[in-house]
Amino acid sequence: MPEGLRLTNTLTRRKEPFAPADPAHVRMYACGPTVYDFAHIGNARPVIVFDLLFRLLRHLYGADHVTYVRNITDVDDKINARAARDFPGVPLNDAIRRVTAETERQFHEDIRALGVLMPEDVNRPGGRLALIEPRATEHIEEMRRLIDRLVAQGHAYAAEGHVLFHVPSMPDYGSLSRRPLEEMEAGARVDVAPYKRSPLDFVLWKPSKPGEPSWPSPAGIAAEGRPGWHIECSAMAWKHLGESFDIHAGGLDLIFPHHENEIAQSRCCFGRPAMATYWLHNGFLQVEGEKMSKSLGNFITIRDVLADWPGEVVRLNMLKTHYRQPIDWTVRGLEESARTLDGWVREPGFREAPAEFARPVLDALLDDLNTPKALAELHGLARAGNRQALAGTLRALGFSGDVGAPDPAVDPAEIAAAIDRRLAARADKNWAESDRIRDELKARGVQLKDNKDGTTTWEVARA
Ligand code: AMP
Ligand code: ZN
Repeated sequence: MPEGLRLTNTLTRRKEPFAPADPAHVRMYACGPTVYDFAHIGNARPVIVFDLLFRLLRHLYGADHVTYVRNITDVDDKINARAARDFPGVPLNDAIRRVTAETERQFHEDIRALGVLMPEDVNRPGGRLALIEPRATEHIEEMRRLIDRLVAQGHAYAAEGHVLFHVPSMPDYGSLSRRPLEEMEAGARVDVAPYKRSPLDFVLWKPSKPGEPSWPSPAGIAAEGRPGWHIECSAMAWKHLGESFDIHAGGLDLIFPHHENEIAQSRCCFGRPAMATYWLHNGFLQVEGEKMSKSLGNFITIRDVLADWPGEVVRLNMLKTHYRQPIDWTVRGLEESARTLDGWVREPGFREAPAEFARPVLDALLDDLNTPKALAELHGLARAGNRQALAGTLRALGFSGDVGAPDPAVDPAEIAAAIDRRLAARADKNWAESDRIRDELKARGVQLKDNKDGTTTWEVARA
């Protein structure tokens, strides 16, 4: 059994030796984005950090001995609002599907550019899946089953078309965020929904408004409805990892209430002492010393950053700070990361080096993913002229050496996908969307040609 990995566990607030329940198989879950708009650079942090952890675990336990689940939240009020705004006149459910499909596609494009492993990189045909990206809407049945069990056990109740988790039914609720139940009860707001038995009770299921996505309800409720956010993760983790598993990860904003509520649901449902043994949380990202927000005008998407910087520079820049610390995202930092990476990957033979962690780098990562230390060790390898170790380690860390200026115009797969979307828009007689796609490609120097036989081909427009 591999030894030496230590991780800081939010549950105990301590750095602990990592030991999976099944010594031959690690199971890990990370909360993913809600897909309604371009992901911002803060969302890229957990994706990159937990991709690195996934790579490290694969190295330690073997590629066939790690299962990583990162979900996609595709039912949410924000998605409904965006769909109604962007596609007026289109039936809401169709509009929602367009929003989520498009956003998910953009998200995948973004994170792939950041050197993040994708299902197609690691899942072998016929083998056990190593990386799973479940969607909430594909796990409604599991959610209903969890909710029915919680109701049967007296941990949840139906009221006015809602199903609520009754928080006082779990005496040690609040143990992850270290908020004692009595304190929360004392501090609770008084203007709560009248159907709640306790002001702390949270929604497992709620009614859908007319036109909104809806599914048959649990708990004997006649009208259709939709799940609350927290139950989605409990259901997806259960389906793909079992009643309890090893690592649960996400940004620290999720500790309360999201992770606390996931724990309440899963533990009460399955009667286990823990939902996950190790809870890992990444610190927050801020921009040039300020909190990132739309109102401050410093809100940046992964797309924005990728327009100016190669994805691998972005990846390196993210790993310069330890994952638990806050990170200050600055242009200066990016410039420095670009110079560093450029120097490293220019070494002759870089692309031929097989992925292999140099020992000092591995030791740094084993210590709670100490990436600043790991990067210092890489600088050391570079200074010592140890090219083979430097290149092999960079590859193991997810750097392929692709740091040239991005040229999106000539990514044929992406253009083919855009052409497909345009054909679908034309089939829908959505000429505005079809023109928008054509113009967007044109702005990037790609000229489309609609052929008589119904196919569309493209060429790079020469100025
Ligand atoms: P959301 O779509 O807001 O639920 O976020 C998806 C993931 O990104 C979660 O793990 C969040 O904790 C994380 N996240 C959101 N904003 C930031 C930020 N500014 N810095 C670091 N992580 C973030
Ligand atoms: Zn979650």
